[in-house]
Amino acid sequence: MADKPTFREEIAGVLHASTGNPLDVCMQCGTCSATCPVASGGFMDNSPRRIIAMINAGLKERVLKSNTYWYCASCYHCTVRCPRGIDIAELMYGLKRYTVWHAKTQEGMIGPVFSETFVKMIVRTGRSYEPVLATSYLFTLGVPEMIQEAQTATSLMLKGRLPLLPARIKRLDNFKKVLKRIIPLGDPDE
Ligand code: SF4
Ligand code: SF4
Repeated sequence: MADKPTFREEIAGVLHASTGNPLDVCMQCGTCSATCPVASGGFMDNSPRRIIAMINAGLKERVLKSNTYWYCASCYHCTVRCPRGIDIAELMYGLKRYTVWHAKTQEGMIGPVFSETFVKMIVRTGRSYEPVLATSYLFTLGVPEMIQEAQTATSLMLKGRLPLLPARIKRLDNFKKVLKRIIPLGDPDE
């Protein structure tokens, strides 16, 4: 019987379509962390460099509990500057996919809820609609911030920059058929 894959091998599998080099060539230089605006701002509980070290060390549970990849802004600064050619931004996407597929997302974290809301909305209508997306984080804000968000949304609607109702693309059924060929959708109306 084949050996169970290590955590690093599982993550390598998630990244099989990436053109970046494997994580074990990381030399822990810290360029990715130093260049990351989110890590530098103190928002990530583990820097990108440390996340890679933890994956290479097989610290699966600690990686799955980290907020790092959910806070990644996908700016790609780390990827273009890594001297070892590791696609760190793609790794962040891969870790999101891994935690969603394995139902390991953390309770109370906005990122997974936001992503799920976004995907369901796209599957149902073919278009993004900001007022629905906003519900995934609005109630985590304080009252003053919620009022400010509502005021901003109202003025955008009055200026015609935000539609009152969500739009649907034409030939939505065809779009859903295409999506079903690419990803396992389940029932989008659940
Ligand atoms: S920049 Fe590249 S080599 Fe340096 S720590 Fe980050 S991933 Fe590793
Ligand atoms: S892509 Fe993500 S991890 Fe990389 S520098 Fe930007 S925010 Fe940081």
